[in-house]
Amino acid sequence: MSKVVKLKLIFMFLCLPFSASAQWFKHSFEVMGTMSHVEIWLNEPSSKLDSSDSDIEFDTNQNEQAQVLIKSVEQEMFRIDQQMSSYKEQSELSLVNREAANKAVPISVELFSLLSMAQHISEISDGAFDITYASIGYQYNFREKKRPKQSSIAKALPAINYTAVVLNKEQLTVHFNHQGMKIDLGGIAKGYAVKRCLSLLEKAGVKHALVSAGGDTGLLGNRYGRPWLVGVKHPRSEDKMAVHIPLENEAISTSGDYERYFIEDGVRYHHIINPTTGDSARKVVSVSVIGKDPTYVDALSTTIFVKGLKEGLSLINNLPEFEAIIIDNQRRLHYSKGLQQ
Ligand code: AMP
Ligand code: MG
Repeated sequence: MSKVVKLKLIFMFLCLPFSASAQWFKHSFEVMGTMSHVEIWLNEPSSKLDSSDSDIEFDTNQNEQAQVLIKSVEQEMFRIDQQMSSYKEQSELSLVNREAANKAVPISVELFSLLSMAQHISEISDGAFDITYASIGYQYNFREKKRPKQSSIAKALPAINYTAVVLNKEQLTVHFNHQGMKIDLGGIAKGYAVKRCLSLLEKAGVKHALVSAGGDTGLLGNRYGRPWLVGVKHPRSEDKMAVHIPLENEAISTSGDYERYFIEDGVRYHHIINPTTGDSARKVVSVSVIGKDPTYVDALSTTIFVKGLKEGLSLINNLPEFEAIIIDNQRRLHYSKGLQQ
């Protein structure tokens, strides 16, 4: 039986009705230039969450508890966006982009940790993941169908170089060793935001939750005794799914060339940039990475997309904590080792 057929059967089984005592609360909102979604499952109608380890205070009413939790998720997403967005002039990241080529800029512990994590992914991927892609990336505007000329790409290409981002752990500073260098956290910040939101829900005593931001989804527990079922979008058919994956306590991130793109002379220009060429990466059309840590799976899905099928599978198969589903240019599905049994 093919993998897809097996997953479809699992899907049919999972469609059985839920227990009548289950209470669920859902909310969708726009943040970070994408749609975010939160689902919280609260078990007993009269139960109080154990929030002793949390900053969040509850009323006894379950509906109010859910609304407080949902609000706190929304606020956390907006807080991270305010801090990490390269589109917001007042963000900490924009300050870094303005000043770090001239001097070492002191930054928050939080931004420092995320930049360190991004550096780590760059190192293990030989620079396929590189937040300095933004040195050219900012010249693309997919809504307005704008892309840089080959001459601008050639001029700015030396500024794509993660090794020129100098992080000083003692001083908590960042310095760019290259003029004209810019960074952008679009390939990792959504996963980080999902991770933070899940952890605040967990601290508040929630046992079953889903938080997503665009293609990044994090899951707390299961969906009342059954796995959550997360769909991987069909890359060329908006309302279809290519496959459904049953997951519990995991995160999944999908990077696709259909998210932000335009087509010119039959060529697709999209938002995932190959750091060695400054052009869109075109070896595959969709990559989903599954693992425990939402921040890592976010960065890794972008990474594997740039690497393509062969090198991408080889990288993920060397990382035992992560699995991947890759859709190639012929729309064939490929699975990493751990998903092949
Ligand atoms: P995702 O949707 O997680 O695959 O991330 C795509 C986003 O990552 C893009 O919109 C850019 O903000 C950013 N990005 C694009 N190319 C790269 C790259 N080679 N390395 C790191 N980030 C990238
Ligand atoms: Mg990603």
